[in-house]
Amino acid sequence: MPWRTSPADRARGILPDPYHIWMSEVMLQQTTVAAVRDYFLRFTARWPTVADLAAAEDGDVMGEWAGLGYYARARNLLKCARAVVTDHGGQFPDTLEGLLGLPGVGPYTAAAIASIAFDRAETVVDGNVERVMARLYDIHTPLPGAKPELTARAARLTPTQRPGDYAQAVMDLGATICSPRNPACGICPWQTPCAARRLGTATELPKKTPKKPKPTRTGIAYIARRSDGDWLLERRPDRGLLGGMLGWPGSEWAEQVPPHAAPFDADWVTLPAQALHTFTHFHLRLTIQVAVAPQGTNPTTGSFLSGDMFRPSDLPTVMRKAFDLAQDHFVGSR
Ligand code: SF4
Repeated sequence: MPWRTSPADRARGILPDPYHIWMSEVMLQQTTVAAVRDYFLRFTARWPTVADLAAAEDGDVMGEWAGLGYYARARNLLKCARAVVTDHGGQFPDTLEGLLGLPGVGPYTAAAIASIAFDRAETVVDGNVERVMARLYDIHTPLPGAKPELTARAARLTPTQRPGDYAQAVMDLGATICSPRNPACGICPWQTPCAARRLGTATELPKKTPKKPKPTRTGIAYIARRSDGDWLLERRPDRGLLGGMLGWPGSEWAEQVPPHAAPFDADWVTLPAQALHTFTHFHLRLTIQVAVAPQGTNPTTGSFLSGDMFRPSDLPTVMRKAFDLAQDHFVGSR
């Protein structure tokens, strides 16, 4: 993983850059390592230090984050970088308490940075560690109710010697050996003390409280291009879903969509295909309406962005899916 230091460096006492650990941990929230790797490399190449990131334009950061999801993280990333520069002289605090005072840094992220980047004996508990603890101690209480018990178990195991290495090792054990479906107990360094291996319960653990099925919401996105090639786009409000991201004007997303009007009068065409997307709490079916806007169009919402400036990669995934479906409609419209 590009945010890690090599074992040789760690043996010489060289710890990873807190900026890298912080950024990787924010990106890894709800997101896989495979999805994060390229984003991490792009961000750190474009903004090599926290001061560079703090000085970035909001729109550039949101654009670079597009496609990674959970966009509140990108807004918090900027807020936090600016707080590190203005309140801490460009250096990340090196204690759990100091880190917890930064915007968007919760207990898990603070513990991960304190432990991995500053070798503090803090307990880092992610989903992988929860699974390992549930199995090691054969705990059958379902998640999320089991979290305090699993965290307490993990805390008791956290060593004072090389706690950063330990934190990464136990997370990696969960990610690679103690996997959800096929734990490789035969090569596990904890096979002797592991209660679940002894009792044959490993693949049943951790138990989880069944989730409620996700509701489906619907909405309409209006995709319009002016005859000079400019696209009608809007910057979504900072608060709420996809906050601060670029998107197509549209209706609310709800199980019953309230009446609403298109951003300008035109012969809007409804595409036969809908953009389908799943968010954390709901599925979305987005109906797409398309129109070519004449010169002089004055939309009620959004504004026209030059076709040369528009990068589809700046759109969050659901807006990108809508764009991909709509593109063909505009071929030859200039
Ligand atoms: Fe997981 Fe098996 Fe190791 Fe227990 S012995 S911690 S179940 S991999």
